[in-house]
Order: sequence, then C-alpha cells, then structure tokens
Amino acid sequence: MRHANVALFVPNNGCPHACSFCNQHTITGVEKQPEAADVRAAAETALKSLGEKSKDAEIAFFGGSFTAIKRSYMISLLEAAWPYVKDGRFAGIRISTRPDYIDDEILSILKHYGVTTIELGAQSMDDRVLALNGRGHTAEQVEKASGLIRAAGFSIGLQMMTGLMGDTDDGARATAEKLADLSPDCVRIYPTIALRGTVLGEACERGEYRPQTLEEAVELCAELLGFFESRGIPVIRLGLHASPELEQNRVGGPWHPAFRELCESRRLLRKMELKLKKEKVPSGRVKILVNPKCLSQAIGQNKENICKLAAVGYDVSFYPDISVPRSDIAISAG
Ligand code: SF4
Repeated sequence: MRHANVALFVPNNGCPHACSFCNQHTITGVEKQPEAADVRAAAETALKSLGEKSKDAEIAFFGGSFTAIKRSYMISLLEAAWPYVKDGRFAGIRISTRPDYIDDEILSILKHYGVTTIELGAQSMDDRVLALNGRGHTAEQVEKASGLIRAAGFSIGLQMMTGLMGDTDDGARATAEKLADLSPDCVRIYPTIALRGTVLGEACERGEYRPQTLEEAVELCAELLGFFESRGIPVIRLGLHASPELEQNRVGGPWHPAFRELCESRRLLRKMELKLKKEKVPSGRVKILVNPKCLSQAIGQNKENICKLAAVGYDVSFYPDISVPRSDIAISAG
C-alpha cells in the first residue's frame, strides 16, 4: 500500500450539499484553497525530505469533493501535480470525492492527469441513513461509481462512517458487507463526530442525536476491522486525524488520539477470550504469545486487557513470539 506523502486539503467552498456532520457552511469562504503553486511547493518539499522514497509516494488531494469543485480549478491542481508523476518522481495522484460526481467524462480527465487512486465517501449503504444525514446521494450511486472507477483501471478506496443519525451497529455491519462486495483496494472507517455548527452538533446539543460513546465505537470498529481484513481489504484509517478545529468544535462523539490502537487492542482481547473458551483453558495463570509488534496492543491501554481477563479469572502474561501473525495470539502450552 502506497502512502500519500504530499497531502493537500481541498475544501469545497460553497458546496451545495448539507451533510449532517459537515461544518462547511459555517466556514465557507474562510478556508484557504490551495493553488497550483502550493501543490508544486508541497511536492518540492516532499522530494527533498523523501529522497528516493518519493518514487513510492503519492500526491493526494483530500477534502472529499475533489471532482465536485470548479472544473478549471480542479484541472489547475492536477496540472501542477501531473509532471511529478509523469517523470516518475512520485508514484501517483490520489483524490477523494463523492460518488455522485463520478462519470466517464470525469474519469477520463483524472486518467489524463495521472490520477491512480480514487477514494469515495460512501459513508453508509442504507438510503434511509444517507437521506437522514443529508448526503444527497444513494447507495446505488456508490455501487455505480465504484464499477466505473474499477472499469477505468483506477485503484479504489471506500470510506464509511459509524454512528450516523439513524444508523445502528447492524446497519454499519450491513454497510461494511456491501462495501466489501465492491472489492475496494482499501477502506477508511470514521466514527461520526458531532461538531459545533453542524446539523448533528445542534441535534446533539438539543438531545435529539446521541453520538456513539468511545466504548461503543471501539467495539464496533474493532469488529469491522477484523471483518474487512478477513475479506483481504486493508483498513488504512480508523478515526479522524487530530486537528485544532476538531478539538475546539467537538460537541460529542467518540474521538481519541489513538483510536486505531484502541480498536486493535480490543480485537486482540476478543481473540484471547475466544481462544481461552474454545481451548477450554482453566482459569489461573496463562501464557499468551503475541507478535512483538503487537505486544502493547495485547496488553491494552492502561493494561485494560490484562484487567478485563483478570476479571474473568485469568492471570495472563504476554510473551513476544515472531512466529505469531500480527493481529493474532497463541496460548502457550508451557
Ligand atoms: S461533506 Fe457534504 S456538505 Fe461537506 S463539503 Fe462534502 S459534500 Fe459538501
């Protein structure tokens, strides 16, 4: 999996949509849009810091609506990035956009300018949830856009959210199933955060929307992580990045700076519980083997997993063992 080493945020100033979780309308006109010169400057800086590694890196335009912004502006950004991909200094260009702004004409423009990966903000595959959250597109449009992207030879990433208004854990599981059936090259999972100045933020303050708790989001996302990986689909992001805006404007919702770690840790806990039960391990002292890279996840934040297993009678000690696959555990017979 290539990593975006030049990431530019492209706000959709003046976006006509009204997604329940987005505060675009309260910040319209305030957010600076990058210009072609900013793209070149970011690429040049990255070339200096990455050296030869830039050949495996991508220039990424994030923001979620890249193909919905003004066409001439979109092309000016691509024209600035394309020379770096054409001569092999970067591996490709990555964009994120809405499913209803993908068609053959847009795809041929993206192809022309060296775009390699397209991420779609699907968010949910339940039309009721999409409508309740003002997304302005349907699940069918996600399926159609994914098919067009694949047929045109791009890599595809799909993004989903948990805890949207009107959604449930089962709803999120069904969304994950439907997204996996579209065979994306990667997915991102974002628990919904209610921000000040958004429909959800206001509904949250009025007590009309209850966001997921951190515990609920960790439990569900740990399960979704395992599900996607069982289908051979890497989850390249779990939870929103930290930002001053997020910290200042969060009204509610399960944000944590190490959200992925919490999910990985929970997934290991569930595996340990299952194996202890399946192998009918009697309570008392137990030695558990884990991949050295996952030792701290197995222990859990503040020894959470050790404490949870102690509460059901197991006094566990962890031992690093390189032969144990990552995200798995083995119970030592010795
Ligand atoms: S999240 Fe929705 S409202 Fe916000 S910029 Fe994207 S499409 Fe527009």
